[in-house]
Amino acid sequence: MPVVRQRRLRSIHLALRHLLAPAFCCVEIRTKRKSWQMARRNGHTKVMVRCRAPILFLTLGMALGLAVAMVPVGKSRTGGRLEADPPDVILVTIDTLRADHVGCYGYALAQTPTIDALARSGVRFTRAYTPVPLTLPAHGSLLTGTFPMATGMHDFTTNKLPANSATLARILHDHGYTTAAFIGAAVLDSRFGLNLGFDEYFDHFDFSQLRVTNFDQLERRGDQVVDEVLSWLKLNPRRPLFLWVHLYDPHYPYTPPEPYASRFRNSLYDGEIAFVDAQVGRLFSYFRERGEYDNALIVLTSDHGEGLGEHGEKTHGFFIYNSTLHVPLIFKVPGVRPRVVEEEVSLVDVLPTLLQALKLPVPPVVQGRSLMSSILGRPSGASSNLYAETYLPLLHFHWSQLRSLQSHGWKFIEAPQPELYEVRRDTGERNNLFKGQGARALEMRERLYALMRRYTPPAGPEPNKALTDPALYDRLRSLGYVAVSPGTYVQPSGKPLPDPKDRIQTYELLSEAMSDGQRGRYQESLRKLREAQRTEPDSPTINFMIGLDDQGLRDFPEAMAQFQAALKANPDFSQALFNLGELQAQAGDLDSAAVSLARAAKLDPTNFVATFELGIVYLKQNRYEEAFREFQRTAAINPDYAPAHAAVGEGYLHLGKPNEAAKELERAVELDPRSRRARYSLGLAYQALGRQADAEREFERAKAP
Ligand SMILES: [Zn+2]
Repeated sequence: MPVVRQRRLRSIHLALRHLLAPAFCCVEIRTKRKSWQMARRNGHTKVMVRCRAPILFLTLGMALGLAVAMVPVGKSRTGGRLEADPPDVILVTIDTLRADHVGCYGYALAQTPTIDALARSGVRFTRAYTPVPLTLPAHGSLLTGTFPMATGMHDFTTNKLPANSATLARILHDHGYTTAAFIGAAVLDSRFGLNLGFDEYFDHFDFSQLRVTNFDQLERRGDQVVDEVLSWLKLNPRRPLFLWVHLYDPHYPYTPPEPYASRFRNSLYDGEIAFVDAQVGRLFSYFRERGEYDNALIVLTSDHGEGLGEHGEKTHGFFIYNSTLHVPLIFKVPGVRPRVVEEEVSLVDVLPTLLQALKLPVPPVVQGRSLMSSILGRPSGASSNLYAETYLPLLHFHWSQLRSLQSHGWKFIEAPQPELYEVRRDTGERNNLFKGQGARALEMRERLYALMRRYTPPAGPEPNKALTDPALYDRLRSLGYVAVSPGTYVQPSGKPLPDPKDRIQTYELLSEAMSDGQRGRYQESLRKLREAQRTEPDSPTINFMIGLDDQGLRDFPEAMAQFQAALKANPDFSQALFNLGELQAQAGDLDSAAVSLARAAKLDPTNFVATFELGIVYLKQNRYEEAFREFQRTAAINPDYAPAHAAVGEGYLHLGKPNEAAKELERAVELDPRSRRARYSLGLAYQALGRQADAEREFERAKAP
């Protein structure tokens, strides 16, 4: 190979290494945000529609026709609208909001005037529960009216919402609604599929910072979310509107702004709730001022509660006690008298309730039931069978999953040591009656199994794995989730899994260690991990976490040894393979790096960073064709990944295919306008095509600061 070409390729792969750091989809997001902000500045009033998925789903209701479906719910003429106008639908989810920390649920210390006022004028459910105490799957259930076995979303590192899901947004969109969502946390980023059916999905998280410890980037404060909502509303007068506002503030860590921080010095969690209540107040005020509040159909709820130390659980997701399942649920249905309902209900019931309130048909796939009878004060006659689960202990630690059935004041938890509580009396679930109530427990277990059989689709949920972005796991870790997925887990026959009850201290220790590591307190983190290793000597997860700390301390040989130890215990641990491969490449052991990264990419075909890094390793090994293939594969897995398009484009340049090169490089600069390298290469492609003026323009842009 000519020396010049070799040098050039070397400069390309150096450039690619450089490209890797800023990374990821943020660029597209920023561009869109910018164009929207520009539109806002220019006073444009056109609807800025951003819909990533084509709307294919037609509900059965379409057959009835729009006019028939839109039976009026409102009773008064407001805001100059006709009585036949369907109401706006406003869904507010306040993340991590324990029902018993809200004023209208009897909490004396609460300062939640907005929620309390909503409850006074609406219908408050005193016993509402989430089917899964984790943000992403809980919202998946809420927005589809189905349990996690139907959505396939059990936690935040596995599946995304199946593309054919009949989401609330999709159904309302198909019935003429403008649909918009404003999200407060990256855990609900559109990459997980909850944007299905939304015209506008305001997530816009800066994923370029994912590799950097940057705590402030993790969530968007409630006031910022509501600012975005209000700005958007002013530009988008089209009605009827389905608006979902997600406010993340009460999620750990508890850092309310002033004056709430001082006012709630001794209960910062309550301070976050008071702050978020004020933000909901700002939102409602907007609708009130425009005369649109009275006719709006409003639902306020949460995705899960918070342990706050009950049962030894600090946050949520590990257990399925009602400390983390019990959520507030308030409906304001225009024309319906205020009421308190004591029935046991689930978040999956929200979607069918809203559809019935709007007189829209409920798709047959929906597993929840409409609560309209109760809302109207009629006897519902429905029997409650509340399913709940957490697979976090299994998916991340190979400890047993937990599943429960709550029905008529009793709750059965299926676990290695099963539990039975009379939750009406024993709200704290402290007195396990399993031994004394064997017959009831067995009967409830049978019902739980029947429920699971009934709600699991025969072919299982449509597999739709979310993109694996290793940097996203880091972000999740810094949210306090122990986000390590050691691959698909198959239970070894006959060997009982540990009961999460016996592992809660280890789990909390690991959570703290992870939080320490995320903040650069590696030694503190390592001390906790070694302590946890005494209970769990063979845990590949702990080895992996120690490896991450070693990496942070720049002790790369030790980090590699830890990743290798994790892989010895679980050879299919794709994250460990990926991290090991990165370190091997860094150390110049290209042959081993190629093997590790190729295997990581094979085990997890959505890990687009693994295929990209594999391409870079192949470049370094002068395996150009294979490198080119990996870059193409990366772009196929994540079409929004600018570095992959830049690399493919440059590959085409070298193959003497300037047309194809220009196409890829144009995409690369569209996704990342700041990439000088891509601009320069695009100039070269234009030059080869004889487009001199275009070429000069790109060369100039490549020089721009
Ligand atoms: Zn949550």
